[in-house]
Amino acid sequence: MGIVEPVLSPVEGLNPSCLSSLNWNELKQMVRDCTACKLRAGCTQTVFGVGDENADWLFVGEGPGADEDLQGEPFVGQAGKLLDSMLAAIKLKRGDNVYIANIVKCRPPGNRTPEADEIATCLPYLQQQIALIKPRLIVALGKTAATVLLGRDATLGSLRGTVHDYNGTPHLVTYHPAYLLRSPAEKAKAWQDLCFAVQRMS
Ligand code: SF4
Repeated sequence: MGIVEPVLSPVEGLNPSCLSSLNWNELKQMVRDCTACKLRAGCTQTVFGVGDENADWLFVGEGPGADEDLQGEPFVGQAGKLLDSMLAAIKLKRGDNVYIANIVKCRPPGNRTPEADEIATCLPYLQQQIALIKPRLIVALGKTAATVLLGRDATLGSLRGTVHDYNGTPHLVTYHPAYLLRSPAEKAKAWQDLCFAVQRMS
């Protein structure tokens, strides 16, 4: 299907309203072929997302790191192992009622935080993933994912422990696993957030 011409404009970037008609296969191909922002020039491949496409739980991180860039799957390095442990702690498993995605689909150079224009360009892909999955709960991992979904800046600490709204879907925040690897003392707070999420789901 000739989706590239009407959906991509070199001037305006991605058009969210055009993306809204895409199914999973069309969206995956669109992301695979995407060169809409400068991140694509520095990464090995795009990292679409992984998991149960009808999941109740959607976990959203910031962007691919080095391992993810090489393997083409989100959260596969040390941070990914920790995320898998966090999921197991609340009786969840990657791919089973869980979908994992990132705000941007290409690795930012040196794992820097994605810039505003890169986020704005890539966000329609996540928005369409959310529209297709229809999760019951979104868990933002880290400040970038939390504030992008919230649409305003805030500290992660101020956002924890509250149910936010993302276009009608409940949205909670917790720490990014990569941050928890650097700051293991914060794992207790992440556990509190996960318990809050389970409570919200039940
Ligand atoms: S980060 Fe997103 S918008 Fe930028 S090139 Fe990659 S897939 Fe396209």
